[in-house]
Amino acid sequence: MNKIRLIYDLLLENYGFQGWWPINGKYNPNNYSYPRTAEQRFEICVGAILTQNTSWKQVEKALENLRRMNALNPQSITSFEVNKLKQAIKPSGYFNQKARKLKEFTTFFLQLKKEPTREELLSIWGVGPETADSILLYAYKKPLFVIDAYTKRVFNRIGFKEKTYDELQKLFMNNLKPDYKLFNEYHALIVEHAKKLCAKKPDCGKCFLNRMCKKIIR
Ligand code: SF4
Repeated sequence: MNKIRLIYDLLLENYGFQGWWPINGKYNPNNYSYPRTAEQRFEICVGAILTQNTSWKQVEKALENLRRMNALNPQSITSFEVNKLKQAIKPSGYFNQKARKLKEFTTFFLQLKKEPTREELLSIWGVGPETADSILLYAYKKPLFVIDAYTKRVFNRIGFKEKTYDELQKLFMNNLKPDYKLFNEYHALIVEHAKKLCAKKPDCGKCFLNRMCKKIIR
């Protein structure tokens, strides 16, 4: 078995199914049938934008504000006065930029006649590779591996040399079968591992990846 797959098996064995992406604040472990509606899909896209440079905990607060205002849908985001939108998403930080990003994305979303391509998503102001791939994987069930700061930290510490977004993405996509369920779960498990054990200050003594890890800590 290749090392990338082996790490997945160990992460799953130790943390269990993560149930990403939460819909309406609810996690659905080992159930990859979501999103089931356009509104749920839109909720994931909004979360993918709001989570840029902030923790999911803060995003949840912003999503809850939007939910309470009955505004977690494209029509409301479009019609919302921008200052009201900024106020609602304030907990997620960078709210001036993120309000504009949400407006721009929503205009794009409402015009969609079919599923978006990666190139189309990347052409939207404020959407970079991580956000585009998160949207494609979690909202559209496309087998694209999402790379984030946690992935880079964990896998570089383990000893993989790949540094850039594209290099790391290729590492996963060349070593795993193209299965959106697997990519969904793997990414969520990496996030969990980076929070629980492979944090900024790692707890290597307790880590089940210890024996295969080069522990390159910078
Ligand atoms: S052994 Fe330490 S550095 Fe390596 S993956 Fe585990 S926690 Fe991270």
